[in-house]
Amino acid sequence: MADLYIDLVAPNGHSYKQPTGLFINNEFVPSTGQKITSIDPATDKPIATVHAASSEDVNRAVNAAKAALVYPSWKLLPPTDRGQMMAKLADLMEQNRELFATIDAWDNGKPYHVALNEDLTEAITTIRYYSGWADKTFGQTISTTPEKFAYTIRQPVGVVGQIIPWNYPLSMATWKLGPALACGNTVVLKPAEQTPLSALVFANLIKEAGFPPGVVNIVNEYGKEAGAALAEHPLVDKIAFTGSTMTAREIMKKAAGTLKNITLETGGKSPLLVFPDADMEQAVKWSHFGIMSNQGQICTATSRIFVHKDILEQFLVQFKQAIDSTSKIGDQWDESTFQGPQVTRAQYDRILSYIEMAKADGAVVVSGGGKHTPAESKNKDGYFIEPTVFTGTPDSSRIAREEVFGPVVVILPFSDEEDAIRRANDTTYGLGAAVFTRDLTRAHRVAAEIESGMVWINSSQDCDPRIPFGGVKQSGIGRELGEAGLEAYSQVKAVHVNLGSML
Ligand code: NAD
Repeated sequence: MADLYIDLVAPNGHSYKQPTGLFINNEFVPSTGQKITSIDPATDKPIATVHAASSEDVNRAVNAAKAALVYPSWKLLPPTDRGQMMAKLADLMEQNRELFATIDAWDNGKPYHVALNEDLTEAITTIRYYSGWADKTFGQTISTTPEKFAYTIRQPVGVVGQIIPWNYPLSMATWKLGPALACGNTVVLKPAEQTPLSALVFANLIKEAGFPPGVVNIVNEYGKEAGAALAEHPLVDKIAFTGSTMTAREIMKKAAGTLKNITLETGGKSPLLVFPDADMEQAVKWSHFGIMSNQGQICTATSRIFVHKDILEQFLVQFKQAIDSTSKIGDQWDESTFQGPQVTRAQYDRILSYIEMAKADGAVVVSGGGKHTPAESKNKDGYFIEPTVFTGTPDSSRIAREEVFGPVVVILPFSDEEDAIRRANDTTYGLGAAVFTRDLTRAHRVAAEIESGMVWINSSQDCDPRIPFGGVKQSGIGRELGEAGLEAYSQVKAVHVNLGSML
């Protein structure tokens, strides 16, 4: 079909063939539903239009995934072979690193050098890391009595629906695919409608790496139809979701109908505490990175900074200096760009409305506070926002409590350790947290007391595929990455062997 591929030339000169169909059974096929047009957030101009799945298309993809579970296709393939396919996939990604970085930068708005050096490194490492796990997940033998031999086997959950967000398009796909494939599941992946392109190019590599048809299926869509259809489908055994807390609630309700296994990774309002003995230069450097990198569009962004009252003034001065010297705003293709445009006009409007609301509520603007007008005329319609710092607002204000998902931070004073911990924990969220201190005892004491799935001591956001990632409270259920990520995609079967005559 003519419209299942289009030839594209990115603004950095990279030309390639973009698939546009749904990827089902290792083939690109047209949808019976609508289409999605992806927009370059730096210019507000369309990049490409791709097929969006209807619930009927989702049904086709789920049936393909179900059929692929059965021998000789996937579930019973020797796990070492599975791991080798995944390792080959990682190698193919490596060979296409520049292409993927180009697509994600174009589609999402993140600087190309960030996509190339950070997102792609993470995505490739994640697949490679889990390729090694494929033949290292097994059960136990369990001692009971001389009459009984018992053992467990670790088996895949089955067909997994994976719904991902737009902030790290390819990387989020690999966080979900890596452990799912290592454990022998089959997948229907739904990328975010804001960034539908890189997953389709990735689909080519799935086929090239030798994965049998139906093992990985990729269906773009807006969420409400195909996303919901996945969550409700009786043949889908598990849903893994990353995105907003509101959508997670919807998915949980829909998945309840068939009691699906779920993993949810939602939002946060992660605290970062700076004690008076902290290395100030390091604290400023990491706390700036912890909220302003990736245009502030990070679920673990440390967006509530609590600084000991004796050093608040100095911290604010240095934080503003860090913004002035580091946060160069520009389009994706300039090597010196630190901050690109926000992903969509909707996100841009949402962030600006939070900024206006905070000002109206009396928060003090330390830096930024509005949209950024780019120097280049080609980017005049882009979704650029100034990195914005607020202080002088109560913990109860909306800007201090709600996830903005943009380059906006609230920096507030605390009086002592007890005050800092109590206020850090006074939130419905519990994803990340960070502590800056040179006092080892305090660092570990505070890390243990903070209600979150992850704590960074003297850094922020430096995640690693080998280390578990996830939240407590309303920030999520279950863990991704690391050995813990395998738990989400496998189940334990107990086998009882009667060695005597017990009955
Ligand atoms: P979202 O939750 O609406 O979208 C995330 C994914 O869920 C997308 O693939 C979307 O198509 C899908 N989806 C949407 N509605 C669905 C439904 N009813 N059933 C099944 N799937 C559905 O998030 P968003 O609108 O892109 O962003 C809104 C807010 O979410 C952001 O401002 C931010 O606060 C938060 N967010 C968090 C993360 C994260 O990494 N935790 C990522 C992106 C956005």
